[in-house]
Amino acid sequence: MPIQAGTKLMYLADNHGRKINYLRLSVTDRCNMRCVYCMPETGIDKCQHVDILSYEQFLLIAKAAVALGIEKIRVTGGEPLVRRGILDFLAELTKIQGLKQLVLTTNGVLLPEMAQGLKDAGVQRLNISLDSLHPQMFRQLTRTDLLPQVLAGINAAEKVGLPYKINVVVMRGRNDNEILEFANLTRDHDCTVRFIEYMPTLKEKDWRSQVISSHEVLERLHQHYSLHPVERGPLSGPAEEFAIAGARGRIGVIAPLSGHFCQDCNRIRITASGRVRTCLFSDYETDLKPLLKLDDVKVVAHELRRLISEKPACHTLNSQVAGHSPFSMAQIGG
Ligand code: SAM
Ligand code: SF4
Repeated sequence: MPIQAGTKLMYLADNHGRKINYLRLSVTDRCNMRCVYCMPETGIDKCQHVDILSYEQFLLIAKAAVALGIEKIRVTGGEPLVRRGILDFLAELTKIQGLKQLVLTTNGVLLPEMAQGLKDAGVQRLNISLDSLHPQMFRQLTRTDLLPQVLAGINAAEKVGLPYKINVVVMRGRNDNEILEFANLTRDHDCTVRFIEYMPTLKEKDWRSQVISSHEVLERLHQHYSLHPVERGPLSGPAEEFAIAGARGRIGVIAPLSGHFCQDCNRIRITASGRVRTCLFSDYETDLKPLLKLDDVKVVAHELRRLISEKPACHTLNSQVAGHSPFSMAQIGG
C-alpha cells in the first residue's frame, strides 16, 4: 500500500509502505562450485580484485544500514567462505549496535573446518545449499564431486550447535525425485529444509520446462505426509513453513516465481563490487563506491535511504516470462 502524505513511520520503509529491515552482502563473486542454475561451466566474468569492496567498505555500508533500521544481515556470495579473513569480518559485523541477526549462506564445502569459527564469530544461523543427496546428481548440478564435504559440513554445523536451514533448488527432471528424501531429513534433524523454485537468472533456452512450482512440491509432499503449518518469526524469510507430525525439523517452500511475494519484500542487496540492487529481477543497480571513498556513515545512509525509497514495487518474472537481462546469482548473492 503506498504511503499517504503526512504518515510518520517508526521504521525504515520504501515508497510502497514496505518495511525494509534486511540487507544481503555479497562479499565475493568467487566460488568453488559451478552450479548449473547459477553460472556457466566456464564460470562468470569475475570482478577485478580492485573492484571488490574491502571489508572496511562493507562495514561502513552495514553500519549505515543498521543506523537506518536494518535488523538482519545475511553474508553471501559467490561462496563467502572462500574469501580470506571472512571470520574476522563476521565478528566485526556482530559488534554493530542495533543489529539483531547475522546469518550466512554457504554451499557448505568449507564448513568442516570453519563451522566452529563461524559460531565463535557470532553467526546465528546458516543456510546451507544442497540440491542432491546422490553423488551423480550432485555432480550434474554443481559440476563438482564435493558432496562428502558438504555432508560433513552439515554434521560440523550440528556438532558446534549452529542452527541451519538446507536450501534445495528444485528442478524438474533433475532432482525433483529427491523431494521426499529431503523432507525425510526433517524427521531426525532439527533443521529446516526449504524447497526453492528454480529461477531463470541465466535465461537458459529450456528454463520453463525445468520450473516446478512450490504448489506442486507441496502437493507431492501432501500425498505422503500429513503436514501442519508452523508459525514463523518476525525476521523470517519468504518461506511458507510446515512440519511433518512428530518431526524434529520443518519444511519450507519459497515461491519467487509463482508466489508473487513482492508485496512483502523487505530486503536490499549489495554486490561484491559495491552496487546496490533493490530488486533481484530489476536490471537497475547503483554504484556506491564513489560515496564510500568519503568514509562517512551519514552520507552512505542518506544514499541508501534514497535508493530504498525508490525500490520497485514488483518484478515481472513469472513461470512463463523473464524480462530481466541474464545474470549470475553468484554476482548478486541470491
Ligand atoms: N555459494 C553460496 C550458496 O550456494 O549457498 C551462496 C551464494 S548462492 C548465489 C545463494 C543461493 O542462491 C543458493 O541457495 C543458491 O541455491 C541460490 N540460487 C542461485 N541461483 C539460483 C537460481 N537460478 N534459482 C534459484 N536459486 C538460485
Ligand atoms: Fe557457487 Fe552458490 Fe552459485 Fe553454486 S549457487 S555456483 S555454490 S555461488
